[in-house]
Amino acid sequence: MPDGCLFCKIVAREIPATIVAESDDALAFRDINPAAPVHFLVIPKAHHDSLALADDEALLGHLMAFAAKVASQEGISENGYRTVVNTRRDGGQTVDHLHLHVLGGRRMTWPPG
Ligand code: AMP
Ligand code: ZN
Repeated sequence: MPDGCLFCKIVAREIPATIVAESDDALAFRDINPAAPVHFLVIPKAHHDSLALADDEALLGHLMAFAAKVASQEGISENGYRTVVNTRRDGGQTVDHLHLHVLGGRRMTWPPG
């Protein structure tokens, strides 16, 4: 774990989070500052800085499939939801541990800001 990585600390249960689902390789927990009625993050348990550096295709596939499964459990699958992966500076990434946002429970707009 890189020193001080917030999301690695959540994986290690060193700081609290509202965990909604877990697999062998991924964790889903509620975003602390939700941008929609349902807003959770899906992260790999292993540290990867960003999508730009993630080369484990099996893991990336698992994160997407896991996000869809948890979205279904959260009751937003039928109406739909948005998945977002902010990457590096121009993508608006603020936590340097790869994560997928899953947002639902309201109608999204496009284009994003
Ligand atoms: P990003 O801007 O794409 O890097 O997203 C980082 C997200 O992590 C933001 O939506 C934050 O609200 C969220 N976040 C930051 N700290 C925590 C935390 N301790 N628990 C849950 N979510 C967090
Ligand atoms: Zn990390």
